[in-house]
Amino acid sequence: MAEKRSLIGLDAAAMAAALIAAGLPEKSAKMRVRQLWNWIYVHGARDFAVMTNLAKDFRTQMAEHFTLARPEIVTEQISSDGTRKWLLRTGPGIEFETVYIPEAERGTLCVSSQVGCTLTCRFCHTGTQKLVRNLTPAEIVGQLLVARDALNDWPSTAPGRKVTNVVMMGMGEPLYNFDNVKAALKIVTDGDGLALSKRRVTLSTAGVVPMIEKAGKEIGSGLAISLHAVRDELRDEIVPINKKYPLKELLDACRAYPGASNSRRITFEYVMLMGVNDSLADARALVKLLAGIPAKINLIPFNPWPGAPYECSEWSQIEKFAEIVNKAGYASPVRTPRGRDIMAACGQLKSQSVKERASTRLAAEKLAPTSTSMNEVQSGQLARMPH
Ligand code: SF4
Repeated sequence: MAEKRSLIGLDAAAMAAALIAAGLPEKSAKMRVRQLWNWIYVHGARDFAVMTNLAKDFRTQMAEHFTLARPEIVTEQISSDGTRKWLLRTGPGIEFETVYIPEAERGTLCVSSQVGCTLTCRFCHTGTQKLVRNLTPAEIVGQLLVARDALNDWPSTAPGRKVTNVVMMGMGEPLYNFDNVKAALKIVTDGDGLALSKRRVTLSTAGVVPMIEKAGKEIGSGLAISLHAVRDELRDEIVPINKKYPLKELLDACRAYPGASNSRRITFEYVMLMGVNDSLADARALVKLLAGIPAKINLIPFNPWPGAPYECSEWSQIEKFAEIVNKAGYASPVRTPRGRDIMAACGQLKSQSVKERASTRLAAEKLAPTSTSMNEVQSGQLARMPH
Protein backbone atom coordinates (compact mmCIF):
# COMPACT_ATOMS: atom_id res chain seq x y z
CA MET A 1 0.00 0.00 0.00
CA ALA A 2 1.26 3.49 -0.83
CA GLU A 3 2.56 5.51 2.10
CA LYS A 4 -0.05 7.83 3.57
CA ARG A 5 0.44 11.50 2.92
CA SER A 6 0.67 13.96 5.80
CA LEU A 7 -1.77 16.86 5.81
CA ILE A 8 0.62 18.96 7.91
CA GLY A 9 2.19 21.83 6.03
CA LEU A 10 -0.28 21.83 3.09
CA ASP A 11 -1.82 25.18 2.31
CA ALA A 12 -5.59 25.35 1.85
CA ALA A 13 -5.50 24.85 -1.92
CA ALA A 14 -3.09 21.89 -1.72
CA MET A 15 -5.12 20.29 1.05
CA ALA A 16 -8.35 20.70 -0.94
CA ALA A 17 -6.68 19.09 -3.96
CA ALA A 18 -5.46 16.20 -1.79
CA LEU A 19 -8.94 15.64 -0.37
CA ILE A 20 -10.52 15.68 -3.83
CA ALA A 21 -7.89 13.22 -5.07
CA ALA A 22 -8.86 11.00 -2.15
CA GLY A 23 -12.45 10.94 -3.37
CA LEU A 24 -14.07 13.85 -1.55
CA PRO A 25 -16.73 15.76 -3.57
CA GLU A 26 -15.31 19.05 -4.81
CA LYS A 27 -18.14 21.11 -3.36
CA SER A 28 -17.41 20.08 0.22
CA ALA A 29 -13.60 20.27 0.01
CA LYS A 30 -13.33 23.91 1.03
CA MET A 31 -15.44 23.47 4.13
CA ARG A 32 -13.58 20.30 5.08
CA VAL A 33 -10.24 22.08 4.76
CA ARG A 34 -11.43 24.75 7.19
CA GLN A 35 -12.54 22.10 9.66
CA LEU A 36 -9.36 20.11 9.34
CA TRP A 37 -7.16 23.19 9.70
CA ASN A 38 -9.02 24.09 12.86
CA TRP A 39 -8.46 20.65 14.33
CA ILE A 40 -4.82 20.53 13.29
CA TYR A 41 -3.68 24.05 14.14
CA VAL A 42 -6.06 25.22 16.89
CA HIS A 43 -6.72 21.95 18.70
CA GLY A 44 -3.44 20.23 17.88
CA ALA A 45 -5.19 17.04 16.75
CA ARG A 46 -2.78 14.18 16.14
CA ASP A 47 -5.44 11.72 15.09
CA PHE A 48 -8.57 12.01 12.97
CA ALA A 49 -10.49 10.03 15.61
CA VAL A 50 -10.54 13.00 18.01
CA MET A 51 -12.36 15.23 15.47
CA THR A 52 -15.68 14.40 17.03
CA ASN A 53 -17.74 17.08 15.28
CA LEU A 54 -16.95 15.50 11.91
CA ALA A 55 -18.89 12.53 10.55
CA LYS A 56 -17.41 9.17 11.41
CA ASP A 57 -17.30 8.06 7.78
CA PHE A 58 -15.36 11.15 6.84
CA ARG A 59 -12.85 10.58 9.66
CA THR A 60 -12.40 6.97 8.56
CA GLN A 61 -11.88 8.08 4.97
CA MET A 62 -9.28 10.61 6.10
CA ALA A 63 -7.43 8.08 8.23
CA GLU A 64 -7.28 5.70 5.26
CA HIS A 65 -5.48 8.24 3.09
CA PHE A 66 -3.67 10.67 5.35
CA THR A 67 -1.71 11.11 8.56
CA LEU A 68 -1.18 14.00 10.94
CA ALA A 69 2.21 12.69 11.96
CA ARG A 70 4.77 15.09 13.38
CA PRO A 71 8.51 14.67 13.33
CA GLU A 72 9.56 11.99 15.80
CA ILE A 73 11.31 13.24 18.94
CA VAL A 74 14.65 11.44 19.18
CA THR A 75 15.71 13.28 22.33
CA GLU A 76 14.54 16.13 24.48
CA GLN A 77 17.01 18.01 26.65
CA ILE A 78 16.09 20.62 29.24
CA SER A 79 18.65 23.20 30.30
CA SER A 80 19.05 24.43 33.87
CA ASP A 81 17.66 27.77 32.60
CA GLY A 82 14.49 26.14 31.21
CA THR A 83 15.59 26.16 27.57
CA ARG A 84 14.51 22.97 25.79
CA LYS A 85 16.10 21.37 22.79
CA TRP A 86 14.51 18.65 20.72
CA LEU A 87 16.37 16.51 18.25
CA LEU A 88 13.77 15.55 15.65
CA ARG A 89 13.78 12.95 12.96
CA THR A 90 11.60 12.47 9.88
CA GLY A 91 13.45 9.65 8.14
CA PRO A 92 16.71 7.78 8.14
CA GLY A 93 19.48 10.34 8.51
CA ILE A 94 17.10 13.31 8.49
CA GLU A 95 17.63 14.86 11.89
CA PHE A 96 17.38 18.46 12.95
CA GLU A 97 17.07 20.50 16.10
CA THR A 98 14.51 22.91 17.50
CA VAL A 99 15.01 25.03 20.60
CA TYR A 100 12.45 26.63 22.91
CA ILE A 101 13.63 29.60 24.96
CA PRO A 102 11.20 30.71 27.69
CA GLU A 103 11.46 34.26 28.99
CA ALA A 104 9.32 36.30 31.40
CA GLU A 105 7.32 38.04 28.71
CA ARG A 106 7.50 35.58 25.84
CA GLY A 107 8.58 32.18 24.61
CA THR A 108 10.67 31.92 21.48
CA LEU A 109 10.93 28.87 19.29
CA CYS A 110 14.09 28.67 17.21
CA VAL A 111 13.26 26.68 14.11
CA SER A 112 15.55 24.94 11.61
CA SER A 113 15.17 25.30 7.84
CA GLN A 114 17.75 22.80 6.59
CA VAL A 115 19.56 19.68 7.77
CA GLY A 116 23.12 20.99 7.79
CA CYS A 117 24.06 24.08 5.80
CA THR A 118 25.93 24.99 2.62
CA LEU A 119 27.44 28.04 4.26
CA THR A 120 30.45 27.74 6.51
CA CYS A 121 30.25 30.59 8.99
CA ARG A 122 33.28 29.98 11.14
CA PHE A 123 31.68 30.63 14.53
CA CYS A 124 28.81 28.24 13.82
CA HIS A 125 28.68 24.55 14.65
CA THR A 126 26.01 23.86 12.02
CA GLY A 127 28.42 25.26 9.45
CA THR A 128 30.67 22.22 10.02
CA GLN A 129 27.84 19.92 8.90
CA LYS A 130 27.38 19.61 5.16
CA LEU A 131 23.91 20.21 3.77
CA VAL A 132 21.89 16.99 3.80
CA ARG A 133 18.73 18.53 2.40
CA ASN A 134 16.19 21.31 2.72
CA LEU A 135 13.38 20.77 5.20
CA THR A 136 9.88 20.56 3.74
CA PRO A 137 7.00 22.83 4.86
CA ALA A 138 5.66 19.86 6.85
CA GLU A 139 8.98 19.48 8.66
CA ILE A 140 9.21 23.21 9.39
CA VAL A 141 5.61 23.54 10.61
CA GLY A 142 6.06 20.18 12.38
CA GLN A 143 8.67 21.76 14.67
CA LEU A 144 6.00 24.10 16.01
CA LEU A 145 3.51 21.29 16.45
CA VAL A 146 6.04 19.24 18.40
CA ALA A 147 6.79 22.21 20.65
CA ARG A 148 3.10 22.97 21.26
CA ASP A 149 2.46 19.28 22.05
CA ALA A 150 5.38 19.09 24.47
CA LEU A 151 4.51 22.38 26.18
CA ASN A 152 0.75 21.74 26.26
CA ASP A 153 0.35 24.93 24.31
CA TRP A 154 -2.79 24.50 22.22
CA PRO A 155 -5.28 27.40 22.23
CA SER A 156 -8.29 25.13 22.64
CA THR A 157 -7.00 23.55 25.85
CA ALA A 158 -4.57 25.98 27.46
CA PRO A 159 -5.07 29.71 28.02
CA GLY A 160 -2.15 32.02 27.20
CA ARG A 161 0.53 31.08 24.72
CA LYS A 162 3.91 29.58 25.56
CA VAL A 163 5.33 29.78 22.04
CA THR A 164 4.72 33.45 21.29
CA ASN A 165 7.57 34.08 18.85
CA VAL A 166 9.25 32.13 16.09
CA VAL A 167 12.75 32.78 14.82
CA MET A 168 14.08 31.05 11.72
CA MET A 169 17.53 30.85 13.28
CA GLY A 170 18.00 27.13 13.75
CA MET A 171 20.06 24.95 11.45
CA GLY A 172 20.39 26.16 7.89
CA GLU A 173 20.11 29.31 5.78
CA PRO A 174 16.36 29.96 5.36
CA LEU A 175 16.80 32.04 2.20
CA TYR A 176 18.39 29.02 0.49
CA ASN A 177 15.14 27.14 1.16
CA PHE A 178 12.90 30.04 0.27
CA ASP A 179 9.81 28.32 -1.13
CA ASN A 180 9.45 25.84 1.72
CA VAL A 181 10.13 28.46 4.39
CA LYS A 182 7.60 30.79 2.80
CA ALA A 183 4.96 28.05 2.60
CA ALA A 184 5.56 27.07 6.23
CA LEU A 185 5.49 30.64 7.54
CA LYS A 186 2.22 31.25 5.71
CA ILE A 187 0.64 28.55 7.87
CA VAL A 188 2.42 29.83 10.99
CA THR A 189 1.05 33.35 10.46
CA ASP A 190 -2.38 32.49 9.04
CA GLY A 191 -5.17 33.49 11.44
CA ASP A 192 -6.81 30.10 10.80
CA GLY A 193 -3.47 28.33 11.13
CA LEU A 194 -0.99 28.72 13.97
CA ALA A 195 -2.02 32.37 14.12
CA LEU A 196 1.22 34.08 15.10
CA SER A 197 1.44 37.71 14.06
CA LYS A 198 4.07 38.41 11.38
CA ARG A 199 5.59 40.79 13.89
CA ARG A 200 6.40 37.81 16.07
CA VAL A 201 8.18 35.90 13.34
CA THR A 202 11.77 36.70 12.40
CA LEU A 203 13.79 35.28 9.58
CA SER A 204 17.54 35.38 10.01
CA THR A 205 19.98 35.32 7.11
CA ALA A 206 23.74 35.24 6.80
CA GLY A 207 23.25 37.71 3.93
CA VAL A 208 21.72 36.16 0.82
CA VAL A 209 21.32 39.64 -0.63
CA PRO A 210 19.29 38.87 -3.80
CA MET A 211 16.57 37.18 -1.72
CA ILE A 212 16.17 39.79 1.01
CA GLU A 213 13.73 42.07 -0.78
CA LYS A 214 11.72 39.08 -2.02
CA ALA A 215 11.52 37.78 1.57
CA GLY A 216 10.21 41.14 2.75
CA LYS A 217 7.59 41.31 0.02
CA GLU A 218 6.44 37.69 0.00
CA ILE A 219 6.91 36.59 3.62
CA GLY A 220 6.79 39.93 5.43
CA SER A 221 8.33 38.73 8.69
CA GLY A 222 10.90 40.56 10.74
CA LEU A 223 14.46 40.38 9.43
CA ALA A 224 17.67 39.55 11.28
CA ILE A 225 21.14 39.71 9.80
CA SER A 226 23.99 37.56 10.98
CA LEU A 227 26.52 40.38 10.74
CA HIS A 228 29.47 39.64 13.07
CA ALA A 229 32.02 41.92 11.42
CA VAL A 230 32.15 45.49 10.21
CA ARG A 231 34.97 45.14 7.67
CA ASP A 232 34.74 43.06 4.51
CA GLU A 233 38.15 41.54 5.05
CA LEU A 234 37.14 40.11 8.44
CA ARG A 235 33.56 39.25 7.44
CA ASP A 236 34.92 37.29 4.47
CA GLU A 237 36.57 35.05 7.05
CA ILE A 238 33.79 34.79 9.66
CA VAL A 239 30.78 34.75 7.32
CA PRO A 240 32.23 33.65 3.96
CA ILE A 241 29.08 34.45 1.97
CA ASN A 242 30.36 38.01 2.38
CA LYS A 243 32.81 37.33 -0.46
CA LYS A 244 29.82 37.01 -2.75
CA TYR A 245 27.66 39.72 -1.20
CA PRO A 246 29.87 42.24 0.59
CA LEU A 247 28.80 44.56 3.37
CA LYS A 248 27.78 47.47 1.19
CA GLU A 249 25.37 45.35 -0.84
CA LEU A 250 24.03 43.73 2.32
CA LEU A 251 23.36 47.02 4.05
CA ASP A 252 21.79 48.50 0.93
CA ALA A 253 19.40 45.53 0.87
CA CYS A 254 18.58 46.18 4.53
CA ARG A 255 17.89 49.84 3.83
CA ALA A 256 15.43 48.75 1.14
CA TYR A 257 13.80 45.98 3.23
CA PRO A 258 10.04 46.34 2.79
CA GLY A 259 8.30 47.27 6.00
CA ALA A 260 11.39 48.15 8.06
CA SER A 261 10.65 51.12 10.31
CA ASN A 262 11.40 52.36 13.79
CA SER A 263 8.64 50.14 15.11
CA ARG A 264 9.86 47.18 13.02
CA ARG A 265 13.61 47.27 13.29
CA ILE A 266 16.04 44.95 11.60
CA THR A 267 18.08 42.93 14.09
CA PHE A 268 21.82 42.78 13.57
CA GLU A 269 23.51 39.90 15.33
CA TYR A 270 27.09 40.28 16.37
CA VAL A 271 28.88 37.39 18.03
CA MET A 272 31.64 38.52 20.39
CA LEU A 273 34.90 36.78 19.47
CA MET A 274 37.90 37.48 21.65
CA GLY A 275 40.58 39.49 19.86
CA VAL A 276 38.84 39.06 16.52
CA ASN A 277 35.92 41.51 16.21
CA ASP A 278 35.56 42.90 19.74
CA SER A 279 37.75 46.03 19.73
CA LEU A 280 36.27 49.36 20.67
CA ALA A 281 37.15 50.60 17.19
CA ASP A 282 34.91 47.81 15.87
CA ALA A 283 32.11 48.97 18.17
CA ARG A 284 32.37 52.51 16.83
CA ALA A 285 32.52 51.24 13.26
CA LEU A 286 29.42 49.12 13.90
CA VAL A 287 27.41 52.10 15.05
CA LYS A 288 28.57 54.10 12.04
CA LEU A 289 27.83 51.28 9.62
CA LEU A 290 24.22 50.97 10.75
CA ALA A 291 23.48 54.70 10.79
CA GLY A 292 20.21 55.41 9.01
CA ILE A 293 18.91 51.84 9.25
CA PRO A 294 16.09 51.16 11.73
CA ALA A 295 18.18 48.65 13.64
CA LYS A 296 18.47 46.63 16.83
CA ILE A 297 21.85 45.24 17.79
CA ASN A 298 22.23 41.91 19.55
CA LEU A 299 25.68 41.27 20.96
CA ILE A 300 26.01 37.53 21.44
CA PRO A 301 28.71 36.20 23.76
CA PHE A 302 30.27 33.41 21.68
CA ASN A 303 28.95 29.99 22.64
CA PRO A 304 31.77 27.46 22.37
CA TRP A 305 31.48 24.03 20.75
CA PRO A 306 34.04 21.23 20.38
CA GLY A 307 36.82 22.27 18.01
CA ALA A 308 35.59 25.88 17.66
CA PRO A 309 38.31 28.20 16.33
CA TYR A 310 37.29 31.11 18.56
CA GLU A 311 36.91 32.04 22.20
CA CYS A 312 34.31 34.28 23.78
CA SER A 313 35.38 37.85 24.48
CA GLU A 314 36.14 38.81 28.08
CA TRP A 315 33.04 40.01 29.88
CA SER A 316 34.69 43.37 30.65
CA GLN A 317 35.35 43.84 26.91
CA ILE A 318 31.75 42.97 26.04
CA GLU A 319 30.61 45.59 28.55
CA LYS A 320 32.85 48.28 27.08
CA PHE A 321 31.73 47.36 23.56
CA ALA A 322 28.08 47.41 24.67
CA GLU A 323 28.51 50.83 26.28
CA ILE A 324 29.49 52.36 22.95
CA VAL A 325 26.54 50.68 21.26
CA ASN A 326 24.26 51.78 24.10
CA LYS A 327 25.37 55.37 23.93
CA ALA A 328 24.52 55.37 20.24
CA GLY A 329 20.90 54.67 21.24
CA TYR A 330 20.63 50.89 21.02
CA ALA A 331 19.02 49.63 24.25
CA SER A 332 20.08 46.41 26.08
CA PRO A 333 22.26 45.08 23.33
CA VAL A 334 23.78 42.01 25.05
CA ARG A 335 21.90 38.75 24.59
CA THR A 336 22.10 36.43 27.60
CA PRO A 337 23.32 33.01 26.45
CA ARG A 338 20.56 30.42 26.86
CA GLY A 339 20.81 26.66 26.95
CA ARG A 340 24.61 26.48 26.77
CA ASP A 341 24.67 23.40 29.02
CA ILE A 342 22.69 21.42 26.44
CA MET A 343 24.47 22.89 23.40
CA ALA A 344 21.30 24.73 22.52
CA ALA A 345 22.72 28.24 22.46
CA CYS A 346 23.28 30.41 19.45
CA GLY A 347 25.77 28.88 17.01
CA GLN A 348 25.86 25.47 18.70
CA LEU A 349 23.30 23.41 16.77
CA LYS A 350 24.31 20.43 14.74
CA SER A 351 22.91 16.97 14.09
CA GLN A 352 24.76 13.82 13.13
CA SER A 353 22.98 13.61 9.79
CA VAL A 354 25.21 13.23 6.77
CA LYS A 355 24.34 13.18 3.13
CA GLU A 356 24.34 9.61 1.95
CA ARG A 357 24.23 8.06 -1.46
CA ALA A 358 20.66 7.09 -2.29
CA SER A 359 21.62 3.41 -2.45
CA THR A 360 23.14 3.50 1.04
CA ARG A 361 20.10 5.29 2.35
CA LEU A 362 17.69 2.79 0.88
CA ALA A 363 19.65 -0.10 2.35
CA ALA A 364 19.70 1.65 5.72
CA GLU A 365 15.94 2.25 5.58
CA LYS A 366 15.41 -1.46 5.25
CA LEU A 367 17.81 -2.41 8.01
CA ALA A 368 18.20 0.17 10.74
CA PRO A 369 15.71 2.77 11.90
CA THR A 370 17.94 5.12 13.93
CA SER A 371 21.15 6.88 13.11
CA THR A 372 21.74 8.76 16.34
CA SER A 373 22.10 7.23 19.75
CA MET A 374 21.05 8.73 23.06
CA ASN A 375 24.63 8.55 24.23
CA GLU A 376 25.83 10.79 21.45
CA VAL A 377 23.17 13.32 22.35
CA GLN A 378 23.82 13.19 26.05
CA SER A 379 27.55 13.44 25.70
CA GLY A 380 27.02 16.76 23.93
CA GLN A 381 28.14 15.69 20.48
CA LEU A 382 24.98 17.14 19.01
CA ALA A 383 24.74 20.80 18.88
CA ARG A 384 23.05 23.77 17.40
CA MET A 385 22.33 27.22 16.41
CA PRO A 386 23.66 29.58 13.95
CA HIS A 387 22.55 32.97 12.77
S1 SF4 B 1 25.26 30.72 10.77
FE1 SF4 B 1 23.51 29.97 9.57
S2 SF4 B 1 24.19 30.25 7.46
FE2 SF4 B 1 26.05 30.34 8.72
S3 SF4 B 1 26.80 28.21 8.74
FE3 SF4 B 1 25.50 28.49 10.55
S4 SF4 B 1 23.49 27.73 9.89
FE4 SF4 B 1 24.67 28.14 8.04
